[in-house]
Amino acid sequence: MSVELEDIHEECGLFGVWGHPDASRLTYFGLHALQHRGQEGAGIVSNENGKLTGHRGLGLLTKVFSDEREIARLRGDRAIGHVRYATSGSTGVDNIQPFLFRFHDGDIALCHNGNLTNCVSLRTALEDEGAIFHSNSDTEVLMHLIRRSDKPTFMEKLKSALMAVHGGFAYLLMTEHAMIGALDPNGFRPLSLGRMTNGAYVLASETCALDTVGAELVRNIRPGEIVVIDDDGYRITRYTDDTQLAICSMEFIYFARPDSNIYGINVHSARKRMGARLAHEQPVEADMVIGVPNSSLSAASGYAEASGLPNEMGLIKNQYVARTFIQPTQELREQGVRMKLSAVRGVVKGKRIIVIDDSIVRGTTSKRIVRLLREAGASEVHMRISSPPLRYPCFYGIDISTTRELIAATKSAEEIREYIGADSLGFLSLDGLIDSIGLHENAPYGGLCVAYFNGDYPTALDDYEQEFLASLGKPDRARLMTYARERSIYHDNEFASDPTTTPAPTVTPSPAHA
Ligand code: AMP
Repeated sequence: MSVELEDIHEECGLFGVWGHPDASRLTYFGLHALQHRGQEGAGIVSNENGKLTGHRGLGLLTKVFSDEREIARLRGDRAIGHVRYATSGSTGVDNIQPFLFRFHDGDIALCHNGNLTNCVSLRTALEDEGAIFHSNSDTEVLMHLIRRSDKPTFMEKLKSALMAVHGGFAYLLMTEHAMIGALDPNGFRPLSLGRMTNGAYVLASETCALDTVGAELVRNIRPGEIVVIDDDGYRITRYTDDTQLAICSMEFIYFARPDSNIYGINVHSARKRMGARLAHEQPVEADMVIGVPNSSLSAASGYAEASGLPNEMGLIKNQYVARTFIQPTQELREQGVRMKLSAVRGVVKGKRIIVIDDSIVRGTTSKRIVRLLREAGASEVHMRISSPPLRYPCFYGIDISTTRELIAATKSAEEIREYIGADSLGFLSLDGLIDSIGLHENAPYGGLCVAYFNGDYPTALDDYEQEFLASLGKPDRARLMTYARERSIYHDNEFASDPTTTPAPTVTPSPAHA
């Protein structure tokens, strides 16, 4: 089964609260803290004594809820909400979550963070059986599976549906009587349970949202777990024991907010350690270190501290350029970068600069930054990247869509250096990344998913498999076979055929980066 990768990639933020008189307003505050996880749309569903009411729309949370009456209308002491980041193929309001389903035996709201690897085949099978979908998001699939399950109770139906979906998922559901969170068997996305002083329970994608509403962390939800919150408190069960933590390393590198803790590891501190390690691995003589705002400031401080160089503010980010305004064409993307960043001439003129960025995807940002700094008079520009080269796509919910878009998939470090026009370029090693994050889980790569760097995916790729293999060159395929054999990633019969004979993937540009 082949699938257009761009249509279904999603990165999102989830927040829910149970047992607070101002539940929808708290959910608004929680989602506000998670806005960096998605700016394309937002929604909240509240629950007043079993009556579910929702509001959703396109754009930033402040736009969707610009009319105060919308929050006031969402009455009840329970609510769940969602902020959505999606790529160009699926930007309609129909895809904005939470989805609210009205059934004869009760309403259910559902939202999702992540990306399913077998969504297209499940959806096709469900449609063939008569299911009708309203969105092209993969979230709806779970509800169809729940409704079609022949198990006797809702929890059993949910568990069997969770066993059928593969890939990366953190689900948040609200029934009339409970709020439920569930995580995939690898825990690709973070999900944390918190408690407020009044006894209300909160579920959130990141702990920064717990802090925003004054909730204390109770526990991180682990791979394969389901947490059920109702008027009796919370209970945690499992729907599978076949689990192995592989949390997305991009959450630590780029995506999560620096004040969040993921499995007890503070994101800012992890980035700082990445920067310090990078200084040891990739030293260079220079006058100062500057970080690309905002996501690389932590790593820059680590690099500067470890190298004994001043950490200067050589680049300024215009905080008011919303990601949504940056259109997905290369030309406009470059325009977007220009709108977003300026060099501080008075700081960088005549200086040898080390620029720290957290990652290179297409190379557009780095190229533009090098040019900006040279135009502002920098005498040397040395790029240092606080992660290894991104060479493989993500199938679990981070917008690193196709191999062909990733500059490091086809170019060596020296070729990338030449393309971006830097005096030198250095990346953090994979070991350096794993050590710096320091998760130390008894699982491959210390409990991290690092597939974007080495192609070792923790799960089968299902619908993506053929297209992914077809996008690889022969040496890469041969190397990945070793991983695949060890971990049953690809189907044996498909390895037997030459994947290069399948058509190459269509490359549709996805939106520019935030
Ligand atoms: P590019 O210009 O395509 O090389 O993108 C690199 C920039 O995008 C870096 O400054 C990163 O901070 C940022 N970035 C990395 N990964 C992502 C992602 N998945 N979504 C949005 N932005 C990203």
